[in-house]
Amino acid sequence: MSDKKQEPIVNQSEDSQEAKHGSQVLLQVSLPPALSVKQLADILRVDAVKIIKQLMRDGIMANINQVIDFDIAAVVAADFGYEVKRQPAPPQAHPSLVTKGGKLSPRPPVITIMGHVDHGKTSLLDAIRQSNIIASEAGAITQHIGAYQVEMDERKITFLDTPGHEAFTAMRARGARATDIAVLVVAADDGVMPQTVEAMNHARAAEVPIVVAINKLDKPNTNPDRVKQQLADLGLIVEEWGGDTVCVSISAKKRQGIDELLENLLLVADILELKTELDCPAEGVVIESKLDKTKGPLATLLVQKGTLKPGDNLIIGNTWGKVKAMFNELAEQIKKAEPATPVEVLGINSVPQAGDSFMVVGDEHAARTLLEKHKGMQQEFATSTKTLSLSNLSTQISAGQVKELNIVLKTDVQGSIEPIKDSLEQLGNEKIKVRVIHLGSGSITESDVLLALASKGIIIGFNTRPEPGAHRLAEVEGISIRYYDVIYELVNDVDKALKGMLEPTYTEVIEGQAELRATFDTGKKGKIAGVYVKEGKVSRDALARILRQGEVIYESRVSSLRRFKEDVKEVSTGLECGVKIENFVDFQVGDVIQFYRQERVT
Ligand code: GDP
Repeated sequence: MSDKKQEPIVNQSEDSQEAKHGSQVLLQVSLPPALSVKQLADILRVDAVKIIKQLMRDGIMANINQVIDFDIAAVVAADFGYEVKRQPAPPQAHPSLVTKGGKLSPRPPVITIMGHVDHGKTSLLDAIRQSNIIASEAGAITQHIGAYQVEMDERKITFLDTPGHEAFTAMRARGARATDIAVLVVAADDGVMPQTVEAMNHARAAEVPIVVAINKLDKPNTNPDRVKQQLADLGLIVEEWGGDTVCVSISAKKRQGIDELLENLLLVADILELKTELDCPAEGVVIESKLDKTKGPLATLLVQKGTLKPGDNLIIGNTWGKVKAMFNELAEQIKKAEPATPVEVLGINSVPQAGDSFMVVGDEHAARTLLEKHKGMQQEFATSTKTLSLSNLSTQISAGQVKELNIVLKTDVQGSIEPIKDSLEQLGNEKIKVRVIHLGSGSITESDVLLALASKGIIIGFNTRPEPGAHRLAEVEGISIRYYDVIYELVNDVDKALKGMLEPTYTEVIEGQAELRATFDTGKKGKIAGVYVKEGKVSRDALARILRQGEVIYESRVSSLRRFKEDVKEVSTGLECGVKIENFVDFQVGDVIQFYRQERVT
C-alpha cells in the first residue's frame, strides 16, 4: 500500500480519465475481464515490479506474464489510486488483452479472396501457393490446413484458403476479424456479377480494403476496361481512373500477374501499418477445426498477437487445452508461431468453432477459471444485447448503442432497388445514419442474414421472401426481417422506427383449446367453467376466447385456474380443470374456450 500515494500519475492515457472523487482527483481506468501483469502495469503506467510486489502484499504470487482476472487487477489498480471500471466484453471474443505501451512489430497481412462463382478464386489461391509458398523442400506443397503463407520480396503474406465472402462474414458474425485485405476476383470475360457485388458489399461492411484482380486475361476478346467501368458504377474506382482501389490484371490459369498482385498487396498492407506485439502471450482466432479419429480435436489457429509455443495453456472458444504440438501448412512440426501465422494445434480438449477466439493463459488452473468466467460473461452479454430490429431501434438509439442503421435490402426486381435505397438513406438524422450495406434482387439468402448479423443490421424484403435456410438462420440468430409490398409503407416504417414511433406489431399464438363440460357457481365471485383440455395447454396468464357453435361470443383473459381446489399455473392436454374468465359468467356446456397469447413481432 505504501506505493499508493508515492506513484506520481503524470499523464492520462486513453485508458484512463480524470474523475473528481470528493476533493481528491482520481484517475479512472477501465480494465478488461482478464489481463497479464505486464499489461496492467502498462495501463496503470507503473513499473511491473511494483505491481508484482503489490500482488505479493495481497497474497498473490505472480510473474510478469501471468494473467490475472479483473477482480484482482481492480484491487491492485485501486492500491495505485485508480478508480476502476469493468470493460464490457465483446460478443464472441475472449477478454481482449489491452496492450497499449507494448513494443509493436510489423506483421504480415492476412488476405481473403472473394468474388463470383467460377471467376477463378480457387485457381488464384492455387496459383499463388504453387508459385510462392515457403516450402522447406522443393515439391512439398501439399496443402495441409486452411491457410498458408507465401513469401514475396522476403516478406510474408498469409492467405486464408476458404475463398468466398460467406466464410468471411460467418467469421465476422462470430466476432472475429481475421482478414486485413480482400482480393475481389472478377473474370474479365464475365464482368461484374451478383456475387461480385455481394462480396464487395461484405468487404465494405467489414471496412476491409479491397484489391481488385481482373482475371482470365489470357482469354481472347476480354476487356478489362469494361470491368473497371462496372466497378466504377458501384463506387469502386480504380487507381488509374483517379480512385483509390488497387487493380491488377492477372491470369490465374497462366500464372501471370501473380507477383504484381502480391507486390500490391504488400503496398496496401504498408498503408495499413499492420503492427502487433510479439513478446506477449498469444491471442488469435480459430480458422477451422475438426475431430481427427487418431489425434483428437484439431484446430487451425491464426495467431494475431504474441507468439504461440508448444506447452502454452490456452482458452479457445468454450474449451481449453495445452498445445502439445504445432504444425504448419506443410504438416511440419514448428516450435513457434508469430502473428499472422496459421498453425494447426494438437492438445485441445474439445473441438472449437471457426471464428472462436483463443488466448494463452498462465496455467491450467487459470484456463479453467477464466473459461468459467468467460462463459458467464457470454451469457450476460447474450441477455444484455439484442440484435437490432425496427421495434427496439429507438431504445437502442437513445441508449447510444446504435449510431447507424445497417440495412440489407432485397427486392423482387432490380428496378425497385434504387428508389427504395435513396428514400431510405435520406431518412437519417443527426443521431443515426441509415446505411444500405447491401442491396440486390432475388430472395433473401443465408449470406444476407450473416451480413446483417455481422453488421448488427436488419433485412428488408420488398416483394421477396427468404430461402428456407435463411429463414431458419434468421430465427436462430434473432435477425429481424421485415417484408413489404408497398414502398411508402416500407419507408414510413423505417422513418417511424428512427423516431421511436413505430407501434409494435403482435401476432397471436394459440396455446390450447378446452371443452366446457360443467359450470359451478361461486356466489358473488362469479362462475367457474369446468373444462376438459382437448389440445395444447391452458395457462394462468393466457388470453381466452369463448366460442359457441363456432362463433366467438366473448374475448377476455383467464382470471383463475384451478385443479382440485389448488391454484395452478398450467394444465395440459387430457386433464380437467376449473377456469374463470375475467368479466364473463354466461357459460354453457358445450362451449369451446380457446387460449392464446399475443407475441410481439420484431
Ligand atoms: P471459383 O469458383 O471462383 O473458385 O473459380 P475456379 O478457380 O474454380 O475457376 C473456375 C473456372 O475458370 C475453372 O474452369 C478454371 O480453370 C477457370 N479459370 C480460372 N482462372 C482462369 C484464367 O485465368 N484463365 C482461364 N482461361 N480460365 C481460368
